[in-house]
Amino acid sequence: MKPDTLSESGYRVTEDADLSRHNSFRVPARAQWLIEVDDARALPEVFELGAVKSSPVLVLGEGSNVLLTRGWPGVVLVPAMRGIRILEDRGDAALVRVGAGENWNEFVHWSLGRGFAGLENLILIPGSVGAAPIQNIGAYGVEVREFIATVEAFDRRTGQYVRIDNATCTFAYRDSVFKRDPDRFVVTAVEFLLPRSRELVLDYAGVRDELVAMNIDDPNHAAVAEAVMRLRLRKLPNPAQIGNAGSFFKNPVVPAALADALLRANPALPCWPATDGNRKLSAAWLVDAAGFKGAREGDAGVSERHALVLVNHGNATGAQIHALAHHIIDAVDARYGIRLEPEPRIV
Ligand SMILES: Cc1cc2nc3c(=O)[nH]c(=O)nc-3n(C[C@H](O)[C@H](O)[C@H](O)COP(=O)(O)OP(=O)(O)OC[C@H]3O[C@@H](n4cnc5c(N)ncnc54)[C@H](O)[C@@H]3O)c2cc1C
Repeated sequence: MKPDTLSESGYRVTEDADLSRHNSFRVPARAQWLIEVDDARALPEVFELGAVKSSPVLVLGEGSNVLLTRGWPGVVLVPAMRGIRILEDRGDAALVRVGAGENWNEFVHWSLGRGFAGLENLILIPGSVGAAPIQNIGAYGVEVREFIATVEAFDRRTGQYVRIDNATCTFAYRDSVFKRDPDRFVVTAVEFLLPRSRELVLDYAGVRDELVAMNIDDPNHAAVAEAVMRLRLRKLPNPAQIGNAGSFFKNPVVPAALADALLRANPALPCWPATDGNRKLSAAWLVDAAGFKGAREGDAGVSERHALVLVNHGNATGAQIHALAHHIIDAVDARYGIRLEPEPRIV
């Protein structure tokens, strides 16, 4: 494969690529090849390239939900297709198509700036639009699945372009068909159905209190966006300042009987109703109670601000952060009988 940084073929190839700026943990790693694809029509040709056919392919957006524990011995493929376009305006809502390579937060600002409602609780989530459906991003009581009409993708198994409707995506808490089958689809664009009005979602993690602190008693979508931004900036370490991938563990979903037993022994453990009569427990509380908030093993650590966020204090490797994650998983298991699951993709 010929390295080519100014290709007109819809993709750019870099050999022996540095991935440290392609992952928000900012751990060192290299890939044999990096291919950035600007034009979805180039994908069949890309997947016919010798190097792509003969080596493992990792699809990477902005790298804010991955932990690279070593270099990648093959091709890292970055979907970089741009563009935001209103496909159909229905008055009370519009169908909007967004290229996978657009930045999620910029798209949220675009939507609010044009009077669409609903994405305000999802403001400031790092990453690309193409990755949003992968783990069904969510925050402050809202999940992106509520707005996704169709996901456009290239099916690596069949070599065909596919349109996957919302039901077929089988979205769940931090989960989807794409996350369960990570080597199959390259998401090229997402079509959103964005309403022009929608009830505000305020009953979650301090949003109402923040609005009170802002002296707003009759909030609109923009005010909620502002409140969520203030909360996130205060609570979450900024990856531009200290490497991290946001929440490192998923909140465990357990049978009600187990949750009740844990709550009898630990009345302060936060617990919420989940689907099928199960309960969702606070992973942050479990990590904190196991003594890991602010803990540090070399440059791998747990944020002092938020027990769920593993951080790179400077020179940690992905393997060191992974080792710390396992120490936390084992400690929480030994103490509470619950095995936490990582939220980022461990590569
Ligand atoms: C500070 C911080 C805060 C965060 N807060 C939240 C939060 O509140 N809620 C939340 O849900 N997440 C949160 N995250 C996680 C992260 O922002 C999301 O998961 C985001 O969608 C990742 O986007 P990305 O482009 O960086 O994906 P990447 O990290 O590059 O990839 C993530 C996964 O998606 C796959 N993938 C990426 N793009 C494509 C594509 N086009 N086609 C097919 N597969 C693809 C990758 O193979 C990988 O498995 C946070 C992360 C950080 C660093």
